[in-house]
Amino acid sequence: MTIAIIGTGVAGMSVLKYLIKLKVKEDILLFDDQKYLSKGRAFQYDHPDLLMNYPGNQLSMKLNKPDDFEKWVDAQSQIDEEKHQNEHENKTGNVYYSRQLFGKYMQSHFEKYVQNKKVQVITNHVRNMIQIDNRYEIQTQDESYQVDTVFLATGQFGTSDHYQLKEIEAFRLWPYPLHQLEVEHNKQYAVLGTGLSAVDCARYILPKTNQPLLLFSRKGQVQSVRGKMANIQFKYLTIKNIHKHKEKGFIPLNKVVELFIKEAKHHKIDIETLLKIKRNDPVKAMQYDLNHPETVGYLQSFILKLTQQASLIWPYFTNEDKDEYLQNYHQLLQNYTNPMPEDTATELLNAIQNKQLQIIPNMQDVTYLYNKFRITTSNEEYRTHYLINATGPSKSFAQAIEPNDFIKHLFNQGLLIEHPYGGFYVTPETNQVITSSGIAPNFYMLGQKTGGVNFLNNGIVELIQEAKRVVKNYTK
Ligand SMILES: Cc1cc2nc3c(=O)[nH]c(=O)nc-3n(C[C@H](O)[C@H](O)[C@H](O)COP(=O)(O)OP(=O)(O)OC[C@H]3O[C@@H](n4cnc5c(N)ncnc54)[C@H](O)[C@@H]3O)c2cc1C
Repeated sequence: MTIAIIGTGVAGMSVLKYLIKLKVKEDILLFDDQKYLSKGRAFQYDHPDLLMNYPGNQLSMKLNKPDDFEKWVDAQSQIDEEKHQNEHENKTGNVYYSRQLFGKYMQSHFEKYVQNKKVQVITNHVRNMIQIDNRYEIQTQDESYQVDTVFLATGQFGTSDHYQLKEIEAFRLWPYPLHQLEVEHNKQYAVLGTGLSAVDCARYILPKTNQPLLLFSRKGQVQSVRGKMANIQFKYLTIKNIHKHKEKGFIPLNKVVELFIKEAKHHKIDIETLLKIKRNDPVKAMQYDLNHPETVGYLQSFILKLTQQASLIWPYFTNEDKDEYLQNYHQLLQNYTNPMPEDTATELLNAIQNKQLQIIPNMQDVTYLYNKFRITTSNEEYRTHYLINATGPSKSFAQAIEPNDFIKHLFNQGLLIEHPYGGFYVTPETNQVITSSGIAPNFYMLGQKTGGVNFLNNGIVELIQEAKRVVKNYTK
């Protein structure tokens, strides 16, 4: 009997880890391109200034040892730490390391796992997979493999080309790896998006240009700045408590809101005051966060605790409640998830003050004419030579520009079906793929491409939790 894991980023690596831990009897085939093997795309080789968005002692590949990564860093003798961590000591004491260093840490885990005789690595891209009765045939360019179980962990969707610019040479559809971007000193650059990828672009480009850099989005809002993180334990908003309120299989949104308010009060979090901070004024918002690390950090920790449970709540909302949540509540969570490191905010504020950086709201359209991008907002037009799309991965297959045809082949065979809230259909909690003929035997999918069911699951901790749950269920 054979298991295939397709993709060896955080999700695929965690599936491997738990399969080994639970001592499965099957042989395990691991598929990935050599370039991404054991790290995935987020933690590939790139510029060392591109930092993780979590302090080093709070994020690792081990759920019960959040400081495992930092301990690994401390034990390395050959790492030039200066080049791989934030330069200044923050008020909060948070230390951030580069993403490529996290990739090296992941690789060290991989090297241990592949010592296991059951594991075989196939450094080849999977082109297609077909179902033959209750088994699967995985096809690469060179060979075919018959397997009994498949864990599909191919990462997030490609980005969307919102303004049909992908054919233009001066347009960069996806920012990474950023170290390959050769910045021309005297040319004007603009970035679509004001999220964490846009911030990465700003940090990379600003020291290399003498022209002001422009970041555009509809809201002109940046992520919050990380404060002092706290260890939050929920008293009311627990999964057990929330599921107790299920009615006919569904969790009512108003019950979750009620428990959220009760829990926030219990933790003395003043939601009303925090809602008054105008996050669409990025300078004021970043200054507020930097000056209130305790208050902001506590809220971020609270929201983090909630988002880490989201996959166990969201699938049980009715569609009406899902829409109401997205309309009325999601923005608060969005504002305080994935905060940026403190030094990064200081750099952005300095660049704004020195007129090297502008964050521009109300973006409406982009066209390309006479070798320049014309970016229009509700009241102005801006022109730049180069434009980088940092709007992040698409939520849906239909809008994504896929880097490969593998997912398209699965979709065309009815092995994957689009979910109305993003990604593809899988069963809640157990991630069994739902195909056009029902639940597929021993076929599981993990990661952002299941985001319509596993809401907000694309962070490291969430993906490891997902893998643990899925593998545990598989081995039951
Ligand atoms: C630039 C960037 C920075 C990020 N930073 C953070 C961060 O600091 N903290 C955090 O929590 N999250 C971060 N994230 C979110 C991140 O996506 C997840 O945390 C996580 O790394 C995703 O893991 P994954 O295994 O789902 O996908 P990936 O890491 O993308 O891994 C998927 C793997 O599947 C392989 N694959 C795809 N198709 C095929 C095929 N056909 N055949 C064979 N192999 C295939 C790919 O090569 C890849 O190695 C970041 C994301 C990005 C893009």
